[in-house]
Amino acid sequence: MDYAIETNELTKRYKKTTALDGATLRVPKGAIYGLVGRNGAGKTTLIRVLNDLQRPTDGGYALFGVPHTDKKISAVRRRIGAIIEAPVFYGDLTVLENLKQQCRILGMPSFAHLDGIIAETGLSEHVKKKPSKLSQGYRQRLGLAMALAGEPDLLILDEPINSVDPQGIVEIRELLLRLNREKGVTMLISSHILDELSRVATDYGFLEQGRIVREMTAREFEANARKSMRVTVSDPAALAVALEEKGIEYKILPDNAADIFGEIPVGELAALLSAGGCTLLNVTERDETLESFFLNLMGGAQ
Ligand code: ATP
Repeated sequence: MDYAIETNELTKRYKKTTALDGATLRVPKGAIYGLVGRNGAGKTTLIRVLNDLQRPTDGGYALFGVPHTDKKISAVRRRIGAIIEAPVFYGDLTVLENLKQQCRILGMPSFAHLDGIIAETGLSEHVKKKPSKLSQGYRQRLGLAMALAGEPDLLILDEPINSVDPQGIVEIRELLLRLNREKGVTMLISSHILDELSRVATDYGFLEQGRIVREMTAREFEANARKSMRVTVSDPAALAVALEEKGIEYKILPDNAADIFGEIPVGELAALLSAGGCTLLNVTERDETLESFFLNLMGGAQ
């Protein structure tokens, strides 16, 4: 398989902290790779190292098959667009001038493609403003537009939808999916908003204390995700007794609700509850969310 990003035991040590501790991951070409990890897991450090803002202490990485120590790597870097932490702009320039300046820096021969980028990132009405006059969500959109200005083959986005409103989140999601499907742009995205990440990601890497503790495709995630039933009952205590007896995992929730993990036919559950004087009021089948998978995984890693 061809990889847009491969890291090999990537390590970054600061004086007192080891931010990356032998992180090995593979981002297949054409993937939308969701990088998931708690605060301080090392996501931003990894992204900074990949963008040559920091040197690895040990280990290495390759971008589109070119090792980071190879002379050809600077040509490969031109194929990358990135937002790292908060996007950075030229404060004295307008939105449009910022984008043109980005094109100049990247050696783009024309600005003709900027109209499309401006429209797709929802910036059309803001091109004459200075970045400081934009709301935080629109600054984030400008960051994305800047990352797209070089028509990249690989986008590296650190928390791209931070402070974006719900409408903007939908627009950015659709834009990212379009870029991926129509232009084959590979993406590495770190986000705390796992529900949103799970709507776009084709692959996941779970980072914990500077190491990738698990990598899986979205398909593998879906196949492995535990099925659950969300039920509402008249008497949660009776539900707990019945499920304990059966050895079935469950979690009691507020408002007489509970999540039941594991296979039990609804009819059998209803009969079991009824024997304990409890009525089953409502049942919905649910797939495990990325967030609960992540919390389980991290619980196990501690
Ligand atoms: P968050 O989700 O909070 O942004 P993160 O996963 O991006 O977290 P990093 O910012 O990569 O995590 O930080 C990883 C660890 O490295 C943290 O313990 C952090 O304090 C430390 N660290 C990051 N940058 C530096 C630095 N320049 N000097 C010293 N320590 C640093």
